[in-house]
Amino acid sequence: MVTKPTVPRAIIAGAPASGKGTQCEIIVASLGLVHLSTGDMLRAAVAKGSKVGKEAQKFMEAGELVPDSVIIGVVLERLAQKDCLTKGYLLDGFPRTEAQAIAMEDAGIVINKFLLLDVPEEMLIRRVVGRRMDPKTKKIYHLEFNPPPEGTDVSKLIHRPDDTEEKARVRLDTYNKNLEAILSHYKDIMLRVDGSTKAQDIFDNHAKPYLTS
Ligand code: AMP
Repeated sequence: MVTKPTVPRAIIAGAPASGKGTQCEIIVASLGLVHLSTGDMLRAAVAKGSKVGKEAQKFMEAGELVPDSVIIGVVLERLAQKDCLTKGYLLDGFPRTEAQAIAMEDAGIVINKFLLLDVPEEMLIRRVVGRRMDPKTKKIYHLEFNPPPEGTDVSKLIHRPDDTEEKARVRLDTYNKNLEAILSHYKDIMLRVDGSTKAQDIFDNHAKPYLTS
């Protein structure tokens, strides 16, 4: 009997500014998975002023995690939609706590890929502090490592309120505290990659072969 290959139901994990966003762009453009960034979903909810947005805002601005009770329902509902079921998905920023990993398991969601980007801590802080987004194109730049095109008015680029060194250290601390517990759920399927190298090389040499295997 020929069995249908299963679609990737993938998680990408890494500290703030580990390059997850750029890697997701490349993966999604190349493999056609649905990209689910919980940070983006929550920022959209805040911008809309929805109930979830109102509950999430103060935690996000402080660089703290939004309570599990707020985020879990949003993600489980999205994962049950048809595009996720047929195309497969790339979860970016979820699970961030062990309770979130358990909630997915309890809902019968079986993750089959877990890609972890590893980047040294001091590099993460430098990446966070210089990160800027073009509000029109949504493109992410770095003032030092990946400057916007010449002629760009840098003062018009968005500096996320949680992209300061102080808040980045809070976010990094939270990430480190939760990481081991989360990994314990995915260690059998995990691929750990050095995230300090070029995004396209990470994709070509590691992410693509892994996600398509
Ligand atoms: P990110 O863009 O992934 O760095 O997320 C920005 C912020 O959104 C985080 O600092 C948290 O406040 C919130 N957030 C995103 N994903 C989660 C999650 N899975 N659990 C709790 N809070 C989250």
